[in-house]
Amino acid sequence: MKNPLRSFSVAAVLAVFFSGMAPASAQQSPAQHLLDQVATAMGGRERLQRIDTLIYTGFGQDAYMEGGGNITADVNAPTKWRAIADAQRSIDLKSHRALMQLRRAPMFPFAAPFGLNWNRTSAPQGTVDLLDHPLPAVLAALDPAARLGAVSVEEGLPVLQFTTAEGESVLMGVDPVTHLPAWTRRVIPHANLGDVAVTSLFTGYIPQAGVMLPYGLMNRIDWRSQVTLMFQVDSYRLNVGPGQMPAIPAAQANAPTPVAAPPAVTVTPLAKGVWDVRVGNNNGGPAIEFRDHLVLFEANGSEAATLARIDAANRLVPGKVVTQLIVTHHHFDHTAGLRAAVSRGLAVISHRGNEAIFREMISRPAVLYPDELARSPHPLVFTPVDEKLVLDDGTQRLEIYHVLGHSHMANAVFAYLPAARIMMEGDFGDATWTWNWWASALNENLKAYGIDPRLNVAVHGPNGGLSIEVTRANNQRQMEAAQKFCADQQTAGVPVFGCPVQYDVNRAVPLPAR
Ligand SMILES: [Zn+2]
Repeated sequence: MKNPLRSFSVAAVLAVFFSGMAPASAQQSPAQHLLDQVATAMGGRERLQRIDTLIYTGFGQDAYMEGGGNITADVNAPTKWRAIADAQRSIDLKSHRALMQLRRAPMFPFAAPFGLNWNRTSAPQGTVDLLDHPLPAVLAALDPAARLGAVSVEEGLPVLQFTTAEGESVLMGVDPVTHLPAWTRRVIPHANLGDVAVTSLFTGYIPQAGVMLPYGLMNRIDWRSQVTLMFQVDSYRLNVGPGQMPAIPAAQANAPTPVAAPPAVTVTPLAKGVWDVRVGNNNGGPAIEFRDHLVLFEANGSEAATLARIDAANRLVPGKVVTQLIVTHHHFDHTAGLRAAVSRGLAVISHRGNEAIFREMISRPAVLYPDELARSPHPLVFTPVDEKLVLDDGTQRLEIYHVLGHSHMANAVFAYLPAARIMMEGDFGDATWTWNWWASALNENLKAYGIDPRLNVAVHGPNGGLSIEVTRANNQRQMEAAQKFCADQQTAGVPVFGCPVQYDVNRAVPLPAR
């Protein structure tokens, strides 16, 4: 694999870096020389290679949806963080496997206990996952089966490129004074963003049994320089006894997963010229027929789900295909199929505030991990919605409205078919939610825009939508459940983000005195 990352191989600069040091021997490449310096600084090659296990514990935060779940897509919107506590990463350095165990809860309201709890989770990790810590990363570079590449320079740091025994290309930035790893970087695939370079930054080295280990770990991606992980180590252990090392189940193979069969699509007629086109319960929305084309609502879930939905919609009416896509909001679950939809030439309609992020998503490359947009590049054709946009060609009228009064998403739209009285929306609610933290939004929008739906079709389901009466009853039940949850947590002395609940199903509730 070629070095995918921008780098400058500058032998002359290296000469400056290494001036005053012992010159590299004639047999030694700059990369070998640099790696030798790193290994020596870390504690010495032999000492490092004798370490069997590394366990570290700590706490921190990570960015929900890598920064793709904020109130808007504005670069200045506050990041939604999740808290990480009681974390332990147990690394078997000989078998290149690890177990990451932690407790994590969002620092914002979440609709269901599966996402809002402090239960301990355990995730097995493989070789590639371990490259975000300097000790396994340096050992991977020292592996005789690794191939060392060029040395370059980035922002004053010499950078070592190497390819692991498993074929992963890695960059390692090295502190020019201490020779300790300052960061590692590798590229991963991302449904919304194409190829994403993840840089893991190491700070606060302290010697531990003769080995230098960092107490500050932070990940940053090359989209908006978003910090995706902040982790603070509070203990390190090397060569732990067998009783302390948890069993590590096999991690998922690093080999690319074989292409699965297209996901099954359910098509449910809702009215004349309107169908719910859905993959599972969670990924879907209507396809709406116009005189000479179809409009699809949402590109949720994944590339595969979106392509399957487009294909199914294109079979609904002979001679008519989907040419337009309405996207409710920018959250990464709701835009996981955006690149796929644009690869099919679909024009995109959404709130004006989403245009910039959609242009970023569509313009990013997917070279190492090509997706459908990389194979079939198309430009983004974008129609903004401010307060209201009406699609009306005489055969069909679809109204698209800016979502009001919704604390989960400020730059969102929903749509309404006045003839069939069908509303379609993402993230107003879901029959399966336990709690609704913005329960007033549905009624507030219906009232503000003077619309009167009989059926509500939610992106998160269920298939075929629900009557407006059932939708309202769900909101009421989920709002009351959220109030009870907050009261219980308060009694237990546990503050929860989003508590107390600020909304009933119609408006912000009156404030108690405080
Ligand atoms: Zn959302």
